[in-house]
Amino acid sequence: MHSHFLTTSRSNPQFYTFSQVFDRQSANLDPLWKEELQQSAWLSFWEREGHEFLEEKWHKQYPEYKEAIELATAEEQAAWQELWVKHAHDQSAHFWHIFSCVLENYERDLHNGLQDVGQILSDIDDQFSYLEIHQTDASTASTECSEADQEYLITNDESLGEEQQLKLLGLPTSFGARSTNDRRKPKQKLPSESESESDSNRLSMSNEKDEIQLDLKSRAIKKTKRQKNSKIPQFMRDDNLLLKYWFKRFSLFSRFDQGILLDRESWFSVTPEKIAKQTARRLASDVIVDAFCGCGGNAIQFANTCGRVIAIDIDLKKLAMAKQNASIYGVAHKIDFVHADFLQFARTTRLRPDAIFLSPPWGGPDYQKQQTFDIEENLLPLGASPLMEHARRLTENIGFFLPRSSNIKQVIALTHAGEQCEVEHNYLDTRLVAITAYYGKSLVMKQRQKTDK
Ligand code: ADP
Repeated sequence: MHSHFLTTSRSNPQFYTFSQVFDRQSANLDPLWKEELQQSAWLSFWEREGHEFLEEKWHKQYPEYKEAIELATAEEQAAWQELWVKHAHDQSAHFWHIFSCVLENYERDLHNGLQDVGQILSDIDDQFSYLEIHQTDASTASTECSEADQEYLITNDESLGEEQQLKLLGLPTSFGARSTNDRRKPKQKLPSESESESDSNRLSMSNEKDEIQLDLKSRAIKKTKRQKNSKIPQFMRDDNLLLKYWFKRFSLFSRFDQGILLDRESWFSVTPEKIAKQTARRLASDVIVDAFCGCGGNAIQFANTCGRVIAIDIDLKKLAMAKQNASIYGVAHKIDFVHADFLQFARTTRLRPDAIFLSPPWGGPDYQKQQTFDIEENLLPLGASPLMEHARRLTENIGFFLPRSSNIKQVIALTHAGEQCEVEHNYLDTRLVAITAYYGKSLVMKQRQKTDK
């Protein structure tokens, strides 16, 4: 039995998640899964969010529209209507194009994950290379944002041209892209217009040059604001590997510059915020245990969807950082920070939470070097099966955050006999970042209901 679900967010980095429901007995894919996903998931996504997306883009691109349309003559209205039709066509084609690229990657990643341990995993890029950042020499890094960083900050700016966006996404720019200069607008003056048109009308039809200048100004303001607070810590400047994590700090914590604390280890292991939000939506419940909370990226998001969060970590320093980070998001009061070894905690506690989230150590960034990540051999402090046994003492509803190259057959094998699990692939832009597996009837049922809608 297979089912699919697609969700996405439209701000940068763009986030997509695809998921499939598997039976324990069969880890095979339905031959029609991709066709089904392409049709049904796209359609339901577009029905759900498409119009809002088009409107949002329209008002960003033509801020003068609202005022102009009130005063528009019949001829002008027809011109605006024509422009809207073109806008809707271009934007949906553009979004479909990106969606198709991510889907192609998903197909490859899914097939690779379903190969047996030891088989070659083809063409895997670095886990965190999704921002297309040029490696900067640490010795030349300044305390201000580097050029690569500037480029990333700009990607958060919706006014970026499509071609530039495609470049940053690592997608082909030869088709589907349209330069910002190509914007077609109703003519400033239609033949019927008189010289005495109202000031507001004139204003609303501001010329392209002014608009570009305005764009540039607002970008400059955004950049200055963030630069002010962006000081690269010394320990990062001395470390080429860490420097690339610095460039994506706002995708880890959108409130990064308000005082987020991360030690060296946490930079590698914290879950990017959009993925943490998605996991929190899926695991929404009364009481949740975050078994390896680290610096709190997941616990913060659980606090927004759950009644109470029990955040456990074996390292006191991590808990102190998690608490500070949670207070920046205004949710520290909803989290109990527990200093404990989760294995011991699971053996002794009487707590029966509604869900548990497992994000155990993957063994540092070296896990990326493994073509197929063996979840029984390589996870710490225990293999996946005994770790699940510990968690199941507390509840059947479990979310398991795993490396993107995890062997999916092993992930499916963790399901109870006669039950199903859901395997979710999380993409930032077009790159797979991690896999989240969900176990427990009520969790997988929730997913099925969503898919069936
Ligand atoms: P990664 O290998 O993915 O970088 P980390 O080494 O950062 O992961 O580990 C994630 C978190 O799990 C850390 O904050 C660490 O202190 C915590 N941790 C490790 N072992 C245990 C344990 N037995 N019980 C609770 N927390 C643990």
